[in-house]
Amino acid sequence: MPRSPWDMIDDVKYQDEAKAIAGLLARQPLSLVDRRSVVKEAAALVVSARGAAGRQGVVEDFLKQFSLGTREGLALMCLAEALLRTPDPETRDRLIAEKIGSADWAAHIGRSDSLFVNASTWGLLLTGKLIDADEAAKKDLGGYIKRIATRIGEPVIRQAVGAAVKMMGEQFVLGRTIEAALARAAREDTLCSFDMLGEGARTEADAERYERIYADAIEAVGKAAGGAGPERGHGVSVKLSALCPRYEAVQPDRIWDELYPRMKRLALIAARHDLNFAIDAEEADRLIPSLELIDRLVREPELGEWTGLGVVVQAYQKRAPQVIAALARLARESGRRIMVRLVKGAYWDSEIKRAQVAGLPDYPVYTTKAATDLSYIVCAKALIDAAPALYPQFASHNAHTVAAVRRMAGEAGVQIEHQRLHGMGEALYAGVTEHYGPVTLRAYAPVGGHEELLPYLVRRLLENGANTGFVHALLDETIPAVDVVRDPIAIVEAHPRAHARIPLPRALYGPARLNSVGRDYAMESARAVSAKALEAVRGETLRAGPIIGGKLIARAAVAVTNPADRAVVVGQVGSATVADVASAAKLARKAQPRWNALTGTGRAPVLRAMADAFRASLAAAIKRGEEKDPSAPSTPT
Ligand SMILES: Cc1cc2nc3c(=O)[nH]c(=O)nc-3n(C[C@H](O)[C@H](O)[C@H](O)COP(=O)(O)OP(=O)(O)OC[C@H]3O[C@@H](n4cnc5c(N)ncnc54)[C@H](O)[C@@H]3O)c2cc1C
Repeated sequence: MPRSPWDMIDDVKYQDEAKAIAGLLARQPLSLVDRRSVVKEAAALVVSARGAAGRQGVVEDFLKQFSLGTREGLALMCLAEALLRTPDPETRDRLIAEKIGSADWAAHIGRSDSLFVNASTWGLLLTGKLIDADEAAKKDLGGYIKRIATRIGEPVIRQAVGAAVKMMGEQFVLGRTIEAALARAAREDTLCSFDMLGEGARTEADAERYERIYADAIEAVGKAAGGAGPERGHGVSVKLSALCPRYEAVQPDRIWDELYPRMKRLALIAARHDLNFAIDAEEADRLIPSLELIDRLVREPELGEWTGLGVVVQAYQKRAPQVIAALARLARESGRRIMVRLVKGAYWDSEIKRAQVAGLPDYPVYTTKAATDLSYIVCAKALIDAAPALYPQFASHNAHTVAAVRRMAGEAGVQIEHQRLHGMGEALYAGVTEHYGPVTLRAYAPVGGHEELLPYLVRRLLENGANTGFVHALLDETIPAVDVVRDPIAIVEAHPRAHARIPLPRALYGPARLNSVGRDYAMESARAVSAKALEAVRGETLRAGPIIGGKLIARAAVAVTNPADRAVVVGQVGSATVADVASAAKLARKAQPRWNALTGTGRAPVLRAMADAFRASLAAAIKRGEEKDPSAPSTPT
């Protein structure tokens, strides 16, 4: 099958980081004079945001009081994340006792300007008083909880903590329902993109439910927008993972048969109301399937002249500049403008971890924060240059990023939109308006009940509480404003390579032990290589059977079929007899003392050699496959 232009973007998925950074530095658009004045403007924004007591968002208020560097902040995070997922009451009680009881809530009373933060602190303090940590720690927890229960009853504690966590969570959404959210947006005169808090569908029933929720929301938002158009009216953001339980690159049939029709039905409703319908960016492995789906959607004649379709691009991915270039081509080719929200990217740590666990050749994302910031600036310029084929939307709470974007858009004379998250960045953007005059600003506004919103809350707190994050530095007033907005280009120039303490996935365990090698089947090139290898192996007669004392014993063989396609015979296997098992056990018993005497250091090289042999055998199969089909793309290394 020929490779699509989208698959080709994968050629740089695991690009060497130093090389990718050299590319960014070569393209970075700001002159030295611009860079200095951007830093100055950004520092002024920090000073005005810090001075705006009571005008910060709830997320900032909360993090200021309960930073992740405190026991209380960590306890809250663990509770918010885990409480609702803990199924049995006993474990819930133990979690509550551990997290609430071990922190000093009284120290936070009255320390925040925010009524909401103070109210939550009181709630937690009262619960903390009910659960005496010292007593709980001294005695056995189960018995302790039982004793309190006789006084006030376990359900009361559970309910109290449940209510405190729920109250916290509800501060971070605009409304429980789309109607409530629309009413609040009207009251507060805020332009929004509503997010229905649909996380990934696990079943077909989930996907159907999320489609209904999205469809109802788009209808409601459409009616409220009254034809204001995608730039000036409210919009809706969707997650494609909510529309299909098998939204994976290796499931193309299900993506096209199940996900695409749902996505198209929703887009048709959005087009009818002329809304901004944005497709959120998710995991790096879903980038190419999402772009292929968008490619087809953009070209749908049924969508008429609609220009509200939106795509989100993550600057932390090494492929980001290629994605923007390809989207600009697509918009020009199809004649349909695309709205593009540029973000840095959520879940950076998950992308790093996934690459390490899977033993991938490199990371799909940058490993230093400054490289991501630089990539954002380079991508922002590309987006501005691609206007009006692309409509640039910039989502960030970072004063330097915002000032850099304003500088580039101002010089190019291009109309842009800024975006922030509901509950965040209010003071920053108030400063932006004071400094630059009125700007178009849209809030990404989560809608839903506390059951759905807690994962969202934890994600926001983790992201913004991280000590590399801008908001963390903004809230720490001991850091001078000029240090909060240091020029990322200068930081990258001083260190134009990967993070010194994040080794490549292969080198995770140091020089003495290489990590196992994984294959990235989200990449079409890796799938094609494996398919060829399978073809090559299929022509060979594979035989398996009991190996005793290093010898393959011939036994009556039966055909083994491919579980995914029973018509395909993959080989012949002979089963061990009872006598074979007995003689294998006898030999194993005899060999055991020698094997044991080798100790861990002696056994490790044997196991490693075995792993290497497996890998060599796979590599040989791949080579045979490539020899049979020289046009096959080479193996990603
Ligand atoms: C309106 C809006 C919509 C959004 N929609 C999406 C979406 O659809 N998909 C999505 O993924 N995210 C989305 N986000 C989240 C967004 O990606 C994060 O909020 C954003 O990354 C924070 O960036 P910042 O400029 O505000 O803060 P900053 O503090 O300047 O940047 C933090 C970001 O830097 C990056 N980073 C941190 N450490 C490192 C490191 N060591 N190496 C490399 N990079 C690092 C990460 O991307 C991290 O999130 C959205 C955000 C907003 C405001």
